[in-house]
Amino acid sequence: MRYSKMLIPTLREVPAEAEVVSHKLMLRAGMIRKLAAGVYNYLPLGLRVIRKVEQIIREEMNRAGALEVLLPWVQPAELWEESGRWEDYGKELLRFQDRHERWFCLGPTHEEVITDLVRKEVRSYRQLPLNLYQIQTKFRDEIRPRFGLMRGREFGMKDAYSFDTNDQGAEESYQVMFDTYCRIFERCGLKFRAVEAETGPIGGSFSHEFMVLAETGEDIIVSCDSCEYAANLEKAEIGKDRPSKKERGEAKLKPLEIVSTPGIKTVEEVCVFLKVKPQNLVKTLIYQGDQEPIAALVRGDHEINETKLQRVAGCQRLELAPEELIEQVSGAPLGFTGPVGLKLRLMADQAIGDMVNFVTGANKADAHLLNVNLERDFRVEEFSDLRVAREGNPCPRGEGRLVFGRGIEVGHVFKLGTKYSKAFKATYLDEQGKERLMVMGCYGIGVGRTAAAAIEQHHDEKGIIFPLGIAPFQVLILPVNIKEKRLNEVAENIYQGLQEKGIEVILDDRDERPGVKFKDADLIGIPLRVTLGNRFIKEGVVELKWRWSEEIDLVGEKEVMDEVLKKLNPIKEDRDENPP
Ligand code: ATP
Ligand code: MG
Repeated sequence: MRYSKMLIPTLREVPAEAEVVSHKLMLRAGMIRKLAAGVYNYLPLGLRVIRKVEQIIREEMNRAGALEVLLPWVQPAELWEESGRWEDYGKELLRFQDRHERWFCLGPTHEEVITDLVRKEVRSYRQLPLNLYQIQTKFRDEIRPRFGLMRGREFGMKDAYSFDTNDQGAEESYQVMFDTYCRIFERCGLKFRAVEAETGPIGGSFSHEFMVLAETGEDIIVSCDSCEYAANLEKAEIGKDRPSKKERGEAKLKPLEIVSTPGIKTVEEVCVFLKVKPQNLVKTLIYQGDQEPIAALVRGDHEINETKLQRVAGCQRLELAPEELIEQVSGAPLGFTGPVGLKLRLMADQAIGDMVNFVTGANKADAHLLNVNLERDFRVEEFSDLRVAREGNPCPRGEGRLVFGRGIEVGHVFKLGTKYSKAFKATYLDEQGKERLMVMGCYGIGVGRTAAAAIEQHHDEKGIIFPLGIAPFQVLILPVNIKEKRLNEVAENIYQGLQEKGIEVILDDRDERPGVKFKDADLIGIPLRVTLGNRFIKEGVVELKWRWSEEIDLVGEKEVMDEVLKKLNPIKEDRDENPP
């Protein structure tokens, strides 16, 4: 490709609309342009990177035995009504009507469409397992689209869906996808970590998010400082802390007292007013469960994790109770609820079990209780891990402590179980001719987000440093002055030669000042630069330089081809070992 024929509108200024580095650099390198909030045009350079990521995904999915399909973007409402998500999905689902006033949506994901397809086409156990994938555009009307391709409204995704005859098969399919994702992200040149994520009612360790480690990541990665445990913040479990005073039997229980706390409601207000520390206070939160309200207890300085609570409580739905309900069940307005005398199912975080002589609401307006104690004053059905993990908490698997880091979720693998096959009656006939539900898994990768994450990890103050696997071109040839006849001729020869060898090469044949060419080269981040500059004019040598290194190799005009091929070859050979 000739630079002069390309559309690479690079920008010198940092665009004001961009916050994170990948967004800034994608704009500055002329890869993308915004059309509307979260909706982007992909320019030639950007599209080449997207296609590279897609190709890696495609090769690895095919290698894993998955079959590529292409499902429509426009999806009929009936399918979403069948799964119940027409109601549940909320505003991220963009809905519209056709001329016959039939409702449709733009697919934010394709479980409905794929399950509908498979229930119609697959009848027998002989056709299973099956893994179907597509690389396609999704639309999610995100509340805050931002960071360029990282969180768009329209974005490219690879989504795959596996169908198995039983749980064991589904778990094997899950493992195959897990391994495939590791290969994909390695080939994209990413430093990543697979972390445990919430599985909902399925349980077990069958949901992992693939996180690219980056300071600017929106997600918190919780990991152990001494073992392999890693999870996202929602899922992160907390191990048992060292035995407290109470467990050691050293604590003296003081007599229960009621104190007047007029208008004092929040933890902060109560702590100041009663001169106690938040860790000596118990918060009582009332939730509306599926049928009845429940109460959850956490220490004053801890934060409830509603996903954990929902799982332990075994509820499909769980919401903070409205004020009227709180008054009705506790007899006091919001801010004065406590566990003593409360006739509700009480769920307590494990840290409560170690507390003595603590403060709670009194279930009476403008009053709190002092020196509340478990067993003596109220009973708890069971203690469980109900709070949001914090740095320094004990690891749930071993002796270590939890540490926090940041990451970008680029992929997600998830065992779905029979959620959709049940809703859509996606069944097969087993060997005995008995009808059974298929067991499903789903697996997503954000294509644009992966490209953006790679830039987040690979850049410097001058611009992008593309990993070879996803670079738009492998080689950039930079003749500093195309009016110099010899220099131009040799540059052309190298260009032709490399192209004949199948190398993706861009020749900067623009009649521009060297400074401009070097700046653009660094900005667009092509891995290998072949420079024909003053040293060529004076000494006949060509300069070879990797974008990520300061080292320059000087080679004679005749050796350039061989040297370039040798530099690119280790990567080629590696690929040839494992052909798709
Ligand atoms: P997030 O929590 O970041 O919104 P998600 O849990 O909604 O992600 P999934 O439904 O699992 O994401 O989608 C699969 C993959 O699609 C994600 O891992 C991510 O890489 C990508 N993705 C999701 N939402 C977006 C978006 N708005 N823009 C770009 N990529 C996205
Ligand atoms: Mg999302």
